[in-house]
Amino acid sequence: LTKGRVLNFGAGPGCLPEEVLITAQNELLNFQGSGKSIMELSHRGKEFTKVIEETKANLKLLLKVPDNYDILFLQGGATSLFAGIPLNLCDGPSDTIDFLVTGAWSKAAYNEAKLYTKANAVIDMESSKFLSVVNPAEWKFSEKPAYIHYCDNETVHGIEMPTNVYEYTPAGVPIVCDMSSNFLSKPVDVSKYGVIFAGAQKNAGIAGITIVIARHDLISRSKPNVPNVFNFLKKSQQNSLDNTPPTFNIYITGLVLKWLIKNGGLEAADKRNQEKADLLYKTINESNDFYCCYIDEKYRSKMNVCFRIKGGDNDLEEKFFKQAEQNGISDIKGHRSVGGIRVSLYNAMTLQGTEILINFMKKFMSENK
Ligand code: PLP
Repeated sequence: LTKGRVLNFGAGPGCLPEEVLITAQNELLNFQGSGKSIMELSHRGKEFTKVIEETKANLKLLLKVPDNYDILFLQGGATSLFAGIPLNLCDGPSDTIDFLVTGAWSKAAYNEAKLYTKANAVIDMESSKFLSVVNPAEWKFSEKPAYIHYCDNETVHGIEMPTNVYEYTPAGVPIVCDMSSNFLSKPVDVSKYGVIFAGAQKNAGIAGITIVIARHDLISRSKPNVPNVFNFLKKSQQNSLDNTPPTFNIYITGLVLKWLIKNGGLEAADKRNQEKADLLYKTINESNDFYCCYIDEKYRSKMNVCFRIKGGDNDLEEKFFKQAEQNGISDIKGHRSVGGIRVSLYNAMTLQGTEILINFMKKFMSENK
C-alpha cells in the first residue's frame, strides 16, 4: 500500500486496486493525449466511444458472455433495478415474480416489486435471521412466474448462494440475479441467467454505474412506457448512450477489467478470493468461540465475512474496532441492522492484507481471552 493508505475492508464502496487508482491519477488531466480529462470528454466522441467499446468487450471476454446477450451501463444503483426489472420484464400487475429471500437485498427487491406486480417469496429466511437457506430441493415455485429473482451474495448478512442455483429452478423460467457484491469475483455461466445485474462499487469499479447483462429475448420484452433511463430495449439499441452515461465510472470499470485480465482473469480471482476467505474462516473456526460465525457453513460468503466476538460482546467489539483502526485496518463494522463485525474481501483486497488482519485478530484474541 502507498504510505498513508489503510487496509480497507469496507463493504462498498470498497477498496480498488492501487494500480487502477494510479493509472486514473496519471491520466486525469490529459486522457491519452486528448488534451482533456476523461471527465471532460464527450460521451459521443471517438475517445470515449473507444472506452465504452473496450469495456464491453473486456466484460464479454472475462465472463464469456454469449452473443445472444447485451451489456448495458445504467445509473441509479442496483436499487433502481428493483423497480426497473419488474417494469421491463413483467406484463403488468397480474404477473408474478418468484423471489428467494435470503437477506436484506433480496428482501428489498421483493418489497419493491410488490409496488408493480405480484411477488411471491419462495423462501423467506428472515424468520431465522438470514443465517441459512432452506434446502434447494424444498423450494416450491409458483405456477407461471414471469421470472425468478435471487441475490447471489447478500452483502449485509454474509450469505453466498451456490453456483448451481439454476439446477433447482423450473426449466424455461428466466433467472434474474443480483450479483452486486460478488460480480467478477469468480467465473459464472452467464448462459444460465436471463439477467445479471450489479452495482459496480464492490468488485467492478465505483459507485454510480450499474452493469446489466441481459438476454436479447428478455430485452425485447421492454414496453415503450418503461422510463427511458431503465428501458432495456432503448438502452440496448443505443449502446447505453441515449442519455449521458456515467463516463468516468465506465472508464474506471474499464481499468478494473484490464487489471483483472492482467492478473489471470476470473479463475485466478476466484482462487485468490477462496484462499483469503478460507484463511479468515479458519481463524474464526479455530478460535474456540472467541470469534464466532453463526452462518451455515454451506452458505458462508467469500466476499463478506460476518462474525461476532464472544457471542456478541459489544464492549469488546468496540475495543476491537478501535485497535484495528490504530493498526491501519478500517471499515470492519457490521451493517447497523446486524451488528458485529463484517470483513469484506473483494478482489482488490490482497492476501497479504488479509494476513495482516488475521495476525491482528490472533493478537487481539490472546490479549482478551
Ligand atoms: N444489492 C446488493 C447485493 C448490494 O450489496 C447493494 C448495495 O450494497 C445493493 C443491491 C444496492 O446497491 P446500490 O446502493 O448501488 O443501489
